[in-house]
Amino acid sequence: MSGSVSVVVPVYNERDNLPELMRRTLAAGRALGRPWELVLVDDGSRDGSGDMLEAYARENAGEVKALLLYRNAGQHNAILCGFAHAQGDILVTLDADLQNPPEEIGRLVAKVEEGFDVVGSVRQDRQDALFRKVFSGMVNLMVRRSTGVILHDYGCMLRAYRRRVVDAMLACRERSTFIPVLANLFAKRVTEIPVGHAERAAGTSKYSFLKLINLQFDLLTCMTAGPLRLLSWVGGGISALSLLFGALLLVLRFAYGAEWAGQGVFTLFAVLFFLVGAQFVALGLMGEYIGRIHGDVRERPRYILERVVGETLGEKAQAAARPQRT
Ligand code: UDP
Ligand code: MG
Repeated sequence: MSGSVSVVVPVYNERDNLPELMRRTLAAGRALGRPWELVLVDDGSRDGSGDMLEAYARENAGEVKALLLYRNAGQHNAILCGFAHAQGDILVTLDADLQNPPEEIGRLVAKVEEGFDVVGSVRQDRQDALFRKVFSGMVNLMVRRSTGVILHDYGCMLRAYRRRVVDAMLACRERSTFIPVLANLFAKRVTEIPVGHAERAAGTSKYSFLKLINLQFDLLTCMTAGPLRLLSWVGGGISALSLLFGALLLVLRFAYGAEWAGQGVFTLFAVLFFLVGAQFVALGLMGEYIGRIHGDVRERPRYILERVVGETLGEKAQAAARPQRT
């Protein structure tokens, strides 16, 4: 008995990519040969993507559902909204810009059925700007080190999850989150498969440099409080060294006289600047955590869902226009 599949796609200003996305994803979904649904989440697009998604849901009744967010909530929150409204036993996420080939959905699903809870994918021959690839390489290394989960490509969102893991993710109340890392917390068996990667079919990346930096901090703070602990160690280490250094200066001053010590003033400045710098780094990092704690205590909704169009996987007719907050 094979379980049903939900394909969840976050969409933010992807008007020119949608027709091709629909064509290829519908074909891939139908080829699965089992109950499936396509859950499209409009993340507050301003280019008419939302209306297009709504039309797709009406055209492909029973197969496609459109969730329209009131305004931009971010890729990961949009996906969580999709998860909350998806009903499949296996959930697959996919980008709307066709950088991930929808044709790979079948292989991801097959891998989950081999007994894995999460199946990631590694982009072969990644088609992105060089700085993105280098940056991403560093981030992946860091995630591997601190989680101990040997995956090679955390940035690739072509992934499949078992229902159980998704339910656990939905139960998390945190606001800034990074889905692939969160999933690892709940999965028992994780694996990854190589997949193709294409250049963005149309439009430009929805991540500005600042948004990208913020996403990396989401990833870091969602994963570990390690840096905070590290801070106190590093701070303690620096202070201990400075003490030693001070003692050394004192001894040398007695050995070589005050003349020598006067010229050492600049060394002291160097030490001082180093400490001031370290403090700012420490404060900044604490700020990142505290900012996120602040976000969580406020318990703002992750997103506002304006409306749901379409019923899939034999869902009972329900009030489609009921606005919801989650
Ligand atoms: N996306 C989204 N909300 C956002 C930013 C992006 O739903 O605030 C969607 C976007 O439409 C795409 C996917 O997330 O389907 C990945 O975005 P993008 O391709 O811009 O990221 P990149 O490939 O540059 O990392
Ligand atoms: Mg992309």
